[in-house]
Amino acid sequence: MPKPSSEEMTKRLLILSSKLGYQTRGFAEAARKLGVEVFFGSDRCHQLEDPWGDDAVPLHFERPEQAARIIIERARTMPVDAVLALGDRPTEAAARAARALGLTYNSPASVQACRSKLRQREILRAAGLPVPEFFSFGPGEPLGTVLPRVKFPCVVKPLSLAASQGVIRVNDAREFASGVARIRALLESPEIQATREPLLDRLLVERYIPGKEVALEGLLDRGGLRVLAIFDKPDPLEGPYFEETIYVTPSRLSAEVQARIVECAGQTVRALGLAHGPLHAEFRVNAEGPWVLEAAPRPIGGLCSRALRFGPSSDGEMIFLEELLVRHALGLPGSDLQREPRAAGVMMIPVPQGGILERVEGMEAATAVPGVEEIQITARLHDFIAAWPEGSSYLGFIFARGATPEEVEAALRTSHEKLRFVLTPRLPVEHPARRRMPVVSD
Ligand code: ADP
Repeated sequence: MPKPSSEEMTKRLLILSSKLGYQTRGFAEAARKLGVEVFFGSDRCHQLEDPWGDDAVPLHFERPEQAARIIIERARTMPVDAVLALGDRPTEAAARAARALGLTYNSPASVQACRSKLRQREILRAAGLPVPEFFSFGPGEPLGTVLPRVKFPCVVKPLSLAASQGVIRVNDAREFASGVARIRALLESPEIQATREPLLDRLLVERYIPGKEVALEGLLDRGGLRVLAIFDKPDPLEGPYFEETIYVTPSRLSAEVQARIVECAGQTVRALGLAHGPLHAEFRVNAEGPWVLEAAPRPIGGLCSRALRFGPSSDGEMIFLEELLVRHALGLPGSDLQREPRAAGVMMIPVPQGGILERVEGMEAATAVPGVEEIQITARLHDFIAAWPEGSSYLGFIFARGATPEEVEAALRTSHEKLRFVLTPRLPVEHPARRRMPVVSD
């Protein structure tokens, strides 16, 4: 692959991220490898001990106009050539800054359409896309008036959290009441309140869509959608909570069904007006065809980008998704490399029950499983980690590659069985240590 020229080496990438954890580091490392300078903007800067020796710009992503103004001001002395938003929260600030700086990106209106799960449903329904029936309700509405509108089974969720946090399936009126109470308690927690997301007290209620779930990783280029991968999620995701586990690509769905998913993804991005940069979308497929669960103008979360490798380039090099996206954002050669033909997968290691992670056993045996490429434990030892639906961080990630998706899935399961996470329950409420913020990485 042609190395960046000296002119390209002076390029600067703005990475906006709420979490300056391992995902951000992966993108920063990919950029550095290309000789690209990185300029970070984050709303978690108080947690930063300047890990990359850079001045990350402190921003409030819930105030996107103000965040964009700060970026634009900073860009006067540190011009940027492209922007990448990691996670949902920074996308609007990214879009506003990109527009003002003349960078190719999604429009502010299109990213706004994705920030609220309610708004996205409204737009997609109006465009005739297959979305579950839905309605939303606020805190002032007594459950007695809400319940007659509910069709069971349904899924209740907050409007703007991510990673399935606070998403609960309920099957009857009693479960609805307890599910709503549980989500409200989560939304009132200091960690969630600190996000200052709008409409944190409104909830979305949707018909539960049965079927197989897939995730589509895509790359938009000035309106055109390139599908990088369709991941099957072979574990049944039937609730009541929806933490992710295994993603495997290529999909084992028929070519015809995959073509329908791709078509539906194309219609979804057009309806939302998304145009440029990474796309992560989720669908459920049943006898009626694909249903859109969500589309987001960002790459797949956590370390999952490492499941996707592209190349080899003319010099025999393989690159991960992070580097492909950095190259694409900056218009560097190599962003058109094809995904390797081997099957690949990742397991987001679920949290069996919330607690303090004391130790992890069996790493050696789990890593030695044929096909397993790498295991990364991302939860921090001696910190509290919450299980779903309150949680939103995984214990870590297992990566595997193989000849077939079946082989990859089996390797991930075997490896996971060899791992043991020792979690001790959190201290009683009245203990002062309980007030410690749950420190969780990406
Ligand atoms: P998030 O953006 O937090 O991941 P989603 O709305 O995508 O929230 O929901 C998370 C997961 O919950 C989905 O991947 C899916 O497994 C499940 N889910 C959400 N809504 C529905 C629905 N209407 N029917 C069936 N499953 C759903």
